Amino acid sequence: GIQARLNAISAIINYKPAHDHLNFHDTKPTDIFGANVFNDKVMKERLPKAVYKSLKKTIAYGEKLDASVADIVANAMKDWAIEKGATHFTHVFYPLTGLTAEKHDAFLVPDGEGGALAEFSGKMLIQGEPDASSFPSGGLRATFEARGYTAWDVTSPAYILENPNGTFLCIPTAFLSWTGEALDKKTPLLRSLQSLNKQAKRVLKLFGVNTKLPVTSFAGPEQEYFLIDRNFVFSRPDLLIAGRSLFGAPSAKGQEFEDQYFGVVPRRVLSFMMEVERELFKLGIPVKTRHNEVAPSQFEIAPIYEQGNLACDHNQMVMTTLRSVAKRYGMMCLLHEKPFAGINGSGKHLNYSIGNAELGSLFDPGDTPHANAQFLVFCAAAIRALHKYGALLRATVASASNDHRLGANEAPPAIMSAYLGEQLADVFEQIKKGEVKGSKTKGVMNIGVDTLPPLPMDPGDRNRTSPFAFTGNRFEFRAVGSSHSIAGAQVALNAMMAESLDYIATELEKLGKVNKGQFNEGVQKLLQKIMQEHDAVIFNGDGYSEEWHKEAAKRGLPNMKTTPEALPVLTTKEVVDLFTKYGIFSEAELKSRQEIYLEQYVKTVTTEANLVIRMARTVIFPAAMRYQGQLAETCASLKAIGHDFKMATLEDVTAKLRSLQVEADKLEKLLAHEGGDTLSHAKFMCEKVLPAMLAVRGYADSLESVVADDLWPLPSYQEMLFIR
Ligand code: ADP
Ligand code: MG
Repeated sequence: GIQARLNAISAIINYKPAHDHLNFHDTKPTDIFGANVFNDKVMKERLPKAVYKSLKKTIAYGEKLDASVADIVANAMKDWAIEKGATHFTHVFYPLTGLTAEKHDAFLVPDGEGGALAEFSGKMLIQGEPDASSFPSGGLRATFEARGYTAWDVTSPAYILENPNGTFLCIPTAFLSWTGEALDKKTPLLRSLQSLNKQAKRVLKLFGVNTKLPVTSFAGPEQEYFLIDRNFVFSRPDLLIAGRSLFGAPSAKGQEFEDQYFGVVPRRVLSFMMEVERELFKLGIPVKTRHNEVAPSQFEIAPIYEQGNLACDHNQMVMTTLRSVAKRYGMMCLLHEKPFAGINGSGKHLNYSIGNAELGSLFDPGDTPHANAQFLVFCAAAIRALHKYGALLRATVASASNDHRLGANEAPPAIMSAYLGEQLADVFEQIKKGEVKGSKTKGVMNIGVDTLPPLPMDPGDRNRTSPFAFTGNRFEFRAVGSSHSIAGAQVALNAMMAESLDYIATELEKLGKVNKGQFNEGVQKLLQKIMQEHDAVIFNGDGYSEEWHKEAAKRGLPNMKTTPEALPVLTTKEVVDLFTKYGIFSEAELKSRQEIYLEQYVKTVTTEANLVIRMARTVIFPAAMRYQGQLAETCASLKAIGHDFKMATLEDVTAKLRSLQVEADKLEKLLAHEGGDTLSHAKFMCEKVLPAMLAVRGYADSLESVVADDLWPLPSYQEMLFIR
């Protein structure tokens, strides 16, 4: 602890801001924004008009890619990249580990005459063949067929990653098996966007709305993270390997003063943020907001929302950039959901809406009664979707790390409910009853006629305890973990929305040819029916409270507290039906995902448990024993000069040391457990191993608070969280 502390203190004292680097006076953010992106502007400049137009059709209107343009695009991309100093290209993909994967290939090829030239063909752009055998497939791919392929995602622009260690061209891709099964997070996302578009357009058509652009999802992920001095990490194997502390007595000061949120950003952290933003601006990522978060040394970065697939790729780049830039500043960025016990963990609020550039957000209440009726339909679709498929949405954010956060009185509970705000909840309540306060005529609310109360642009009071909160023109899904890809939750949301919109369109189409009044009446009846069947999912109260847990159980809302409880939902009949109906996942793809995520759970807890045993035995035990020895020596010396007394501290340390040993042995025995399928293994880890880890930790942490500071080898919570 001491050396790490001294190193960290010296790192802070000697820290000098890199002015040349972060000088936004000479280089304006607006000048560098998108400088490393093969964006619309670059394509317009560098591609023949016909090729540009053809590509644009695919990017903007979702039309099928004309493969014959690939060679020309590839060539232009290569020239652009080489001018920017790139030597390699890489197909970037998103395997089910949740990480970003890249395989580099040089542009350079020998010319056969002793020289070399740069080559990048359309084929190389469109398709890559990384060896897929080292990525999880959950049984999808037979081992003899190890090859997978990556396919160019035209809708997410290529970009250049420039860094001191090498510069290369990155091409966002989907990752599939040769039999066409999705091995990644992007493929299902793209599929889900297609069904969302199709079903949303059916509903819009009934409202007489036509749009040339596809209806898509929009996502604005608010990314939380911790930053600590890197010197501490080197003497904390738990942080280094598991990304979270497995030991540590609480700091004397935690977050109880509420002095951190929106507080002044520390100097070194501010420089770090500036450099992160500078890197992200170059990549065309519109980061907008930065601030301190609730816990000490916790921060947030949020971009302006973008189209769902692009936002997803960009969030992966934000996570990578946070990690790599932190190192340059002598810090470590922790994206784990719960790096420190006893203080807030990190999440990623996913602001979600659907719409497009022509229509804006379809969750935005309009100014006219007609627009309002349409808004209410899309809102009701979301409520119905959450009620029907809440368990699925919950399953998409299930992981060993997020289990420490969900339901821990700082993050939303694992019960999926929707917060609408008082006003909107009231409107739906009236619709359900078939009456409206504002309208005296017939005692019935008439949507489409201006008897509808003006709808809130902003629901006013924010409810932080709801996992799915309406916030004026979008829903904020708050259960996503800080380290998660936002693809999973979006795939579920898009699919759920598509199914609800499909249902609504089908019901309204049954009306046949009707006049405006009759149509409005039909809409109103349908909304009433949806509310009667699904409003159990609406909850405006305190989601942290005990009463809500009881009430939710009464309403029949699932409450799956842990990952092994949540993941089996992925292969239930309703979920398989949902995804296969819209061609988003096959049953085999769902099974493989369930298997992979359960495996990941088991591996994570196993690694952590091994670390607990190792650290307890090789780091904590010897330190406490040294202290015990010192105390015993003191006792003996005192006895020698005639003081005969029993020292309470010595008794205490001795008893705790013994218990530490006993608990570590118990944990080791549990880990030897074998047999059963992955699900039962995961349950065992959850129910038996995690509590046993906590038992070891209990004794270790209480030793930390008695053993002499100069003998304690692990940096303390206090040091890690407050030296910055
Ligand atoms: P808060 O902390 O109040 O929730 P932030 O400004 O931190 O707000 O983050 C809000 C996020 O929601 C931003 O990324 C913002 O761009 C995004 N957002 C705003 N409108 C929409 C929308 N219609 N659809 C999706 N995301 C949106
Ligand atoms: Mg925020």
